[in-house]
Amino acid sequence: MRKTIIAGNWKMNKTATEAEALLRGLLDGDSRTDKAQLLVCPPYTALETAGKLLKGSHIALGAQDISEHEEGAYTGDISAQMILTLGATYVILGHSERRQYHAETDQLVNAKVKTALNAGLTPIICVGETLEQRENNETESVVAAQVKGTLADLASDQLKNVVIAYEPVWAIGTGKTATPEQAQQMHQFIREKVAEKDTEAADLLPILYGGSMKPKNAADLLGQKDIDGGLIGGASLDADNFIGILKAAR
Ligand code: PEP
Repeated sequence: MRKTIIAGNWKMNKTATEAEALLRGLLDGDSRTDKAQLLVCPPYTALETAGKLLKGSHIALGAQDISEHEEGAYTGDISAQMILTLGATYVILGHSERRQYHAETDQLVNAKVKTALNAGLTPIICVGETLEQRENNETESVVAAQVKGTLADLASDQLKNVVIAYEPVWAIGTGKTATPEQAQQMHQFIREKVAEKDTEAADLLPILYGGSMKPKNAADLLGQKDIDGGLIGGASLDADNFIGILKAAR
């Protein structure tokens, strides 16, 4: 049985005070289920508040990025240890917005994945093609290269501790969602690529779908064989919407 994860990527939204209100909405709402792990990834500045509120609760905490370095002279960067001490257990890595606006490469994401795993964090590694790449029939080659590059040199026990999020870039924040069939096809493809490295890890690997997932389309997406949850941006900023998606998973 693979773990189902419903994860919220808050991006650069919510001050610490606003985060508290949203988290109280989730904690007080109908967000308890043993069918899925609920996870929120607020900005760094709200992690401490979130960590205190969520301690001992059914909602896990993650960050949206970490440095590939453990510590040192890296102005503006945040280390794995720093987020761990605030209660985070997950970290999103290689999100398309980091790739686009901060020129993150698969090689850099791979270094961050290793740093996260060494620290005991579960990395959620994002992959996905742009619209142009899809229209040029490059979807599979692009995603295969991202999977290969970001998972490079991982040992079998490390591979068993990663999560992948398939996020077609053209579906992020656009209101355009991949059809359940398009998403399932890519999730199966990703699992096959991981199986080329390690079949057991591929069977265990949670692969989340990300890209305009909403309460109304979540059930169809989450009903697909290889879709093990969602990485949700916009709809995770509202407790009712996020819980609506969680309900589709149970
Ligand atoms: C995301 O940023 O990971 C994402 C999927 O965003 P949205 O749900 O807003 O498309």
